[in-house]
Amino acid sequence: MIIAANLKTNLTRSATHQYIDTITKCIQNTAQEVVVFPAIASLDCFDTKLTIGAQNAYPVEKGAFTGEIGLEHLEEFNIKTILIGHSERRHILGESQEFIAKKFDYFKAQGFQIIYCVGEPLEIRDSSKEAVLAYLYKQYEGIDTAYENLIIAYEPVWAIGTGKIPTLEDIQDIHAELKKKSQAPLLYGGSVKVNNVKDILQVKNVDGVLVGSAALYAEHFCSMIQAADALTL
Ligand code: PEP
Repeated sequence: MIIAANLKTNLTRSATHQYIDTITKCIQNTAQEVVVFPAIASLDCFDTKLTIGAQNAYPVEKGAFTGEIGLEHLEEFNIKTILIGHSERRHILGESQEFIAKKFDYFKAQGFQIIYCVGEPLEIRDSSKEAVLAYLYKQYEGIDTAYENLIIAYEPVWAIGTGKIPTLEDIQDIHAELKKKSQAPLLYGGSVKVNNVKDILQVKNVDGVLVGSAALYAEHFCSMIQAADALTL
């Protein structure tokens, strides 16, 4: 399974080193693929077998894009994994589907492993299943769903950082629909915690989890990896 941590705008570089050291010790015998996305300013070369990914980058090698980072900055740290389409980038930072698809194409051309996020806001969720699927399918526009280095994360916007999660039946239902669009591994994300991860990982068509707030504590993230090991070893 794929167990990923999105640290967002948290943990300084030195705190991230401590975090990654703790996780590295904890995963020595794990069968899971563990990915950590540090804050951009905390990227570095880490002595670890974890996969380190970038939460974001501009689709360019380098250039005049104030405040952004480019491919060159990722290459410095040997980063070959990127998160694209996260709801905070779509809804807070205003990234359009067109721009997201451009970013996807650029990093696909570089052979990156891409964790591509999709998810619907609450007002769509509250209308109908058809509306949810139509909304999610729009987020597949311009995306090569057959890309061999693709992982998709279904993250309902209303479940991110709120402590609310869909029922396990609802997760299974949406994942079954999304698997028809792409055979890529499909993660669930949105308020995954130590106390619900085991149940979520057992849902059909859930190939792993993407964890935000609960992953900020290395011990909690380790417990989640161990929960996945208990199910798969
Ligand atoms: C996320 O932002 O990708 C996420 C899943 O956050 P949280 O676990 O805090 O809901």
